[in-house]
Amino acid sequence: MQDNNCDIVIIGGGPVGMALALALRDSNLTTLLLEARGLPEKVDDERPLALSHGSYLILQRLEVWGKLLRHNTPIKTIHISNKGFLGRTVLTTEDAGVSALGYVVNYHDLYHALYDATLENGILYQAGADVKAFSTDQLSSHVQYTHEGTERNISAKLLVLADGGRLSSQIADIDFKTEAYDQWAIVANVKAEIPQSGIAYERFTSDGPVALLPSGNDFALVWTTSLEMANEILALDEERFLYRLHKHFGDRLGRFVAAGKRAGFPLALKYAVPSTSQRIALIGNAAQTLHPVAGQGFNLGLRDAYELAQISLATVADNKEIGSPAMLARYGQLRRTDSQGGRIFTDSLIKLFSNDNTLLRHLCGVGLTILDNCPPIKRFVSRRMIFGARG
Ligand SMILES: Cc1cc2nc3c(=O)[nH]c(=O)nc-3n(C[C@H](O)[C@H](O)[C@H](O)COP(=O)(O)OP(=O)(O)OC[C@H]3O[C@@H](n4cnc5c(N)ncnc54)[C@H](O)[C@@H]3O)c2cc1C
Repeated sequence: MQDNNCDIVIIGGGPVGMALALALRDSNLTTLLLEARGLPEKVDDERPLALSHGSYLILQRLEVWGKLLRHNTPIKTIHISNKGFLGRTVLTTEDAGVSALGYVVNYHDLYHALYDATLENGILYQAGADVKAFSTDQLSSHVQYTHEGTERNISAKLLVLADGGRLSSQIADIDFKTEAYDQWAIVANVKAEIPQSGIAYERFTSDGPVALLPSGNDFALVWTTSLEMANEILALDEERFLYRLHKHFGDRLGRFVAAGKRAGFPLALKYAVPSTSQRIALIGNAAQTLHPVAGQGFNLGLRDAYELAQISLATVADNKEIGSPAMLARYGQLRRTDSQGGRIFTDSLIKLFSNDNTLLRHLCGVGLTILDNCPPIKRFVSRRMIFGARG
């Protein structure tokens, strides 16, 4: 990096921003990652992430997976049910033709694995660098940020927003569409009488889905409900919380006997149209923030990062210009189907299953039964969950 100029500045050193920097590590491109926070502590974010088999393959290529070996729990089976209605579907590794349907990791462990890899690869990562403003012209982008109490400026040929959507919503020619779900997700680690056996449970209820993902010997809970109910559940003492969860989830795992710290996340659908602007590309939650049902958000963001890196490397190999309109148009075009697919899939699941319409919920139950009995459709659904809309 020379005279405050580099090829690519990435705003947001979260998991997706770091994955992009790592995917560019073997190029001659100079990349700077700016992250507002210091490194998060484990207790900061209890969120479990179900990584798809496709994400596992990308993290292997980025040489990050080895750092997660002791921190992941494979998902062998996904059990999908519809509370109070008949019909269920069971997806297995055989249906999808892979050794695991996915892997459950904690956000913090993923963050640290990626961060260690950025250090090992000599990537310029400035923690505590808070971006205040940015602008672009035809040739470059310009970023103002504060770091250790000092105002700094940097210019780059390409500016990548991986900031989770905080700054990206300010870009004039990008339309940021949002839809509030009026739902919160409560997350916690829970122990059940029946220990986990590689099965991830996704149970739809009229309040919202409740997921119990295998995590170590226990389960990582993602319980979706209204804000009012979430506040009530977060305030319960452990005994009442476990009782309430058992009543809500049912008896499939026996009683719940212990719970870790609980945390709540507001949920909304937000997405950018288009996902590029002059000298700017959006990736991860900055491009689309989805409902956590079916665990799609990070997996989609990782594919954004990986494909943007591949396009950047191809641009350099062809002696073309990084951040040019042609390169950005290619990125936007390549990511459109996957992003739309993830968004429509998760949004439809919520609209179809999380409602009080008995007829619709019955039809959903019938749909689950048909899916369960039709191997080609099962394989189609499994592969889209694993590899994205392009399967
Ligand atoms: C309850 C819950 C469960 C989930 N489960 C799953 C799952 O099972 N599977 C899955 O694939 N996805 C899941 N997701 C989605 C997943 O968490 C997100 O898609 C993923 O974290 C997005 O990563 P990101 O790097 O794009 O954004 P973030 O994780 O939001 O990171 C953005 C980074 O940018 C930094 N930043 C912001 N503003 C600035 C600034 N001005 N200057 C510098 N830095 C800045 C932030 O500090 C942050 O570190 C879940 C989400 C929730 C809420």
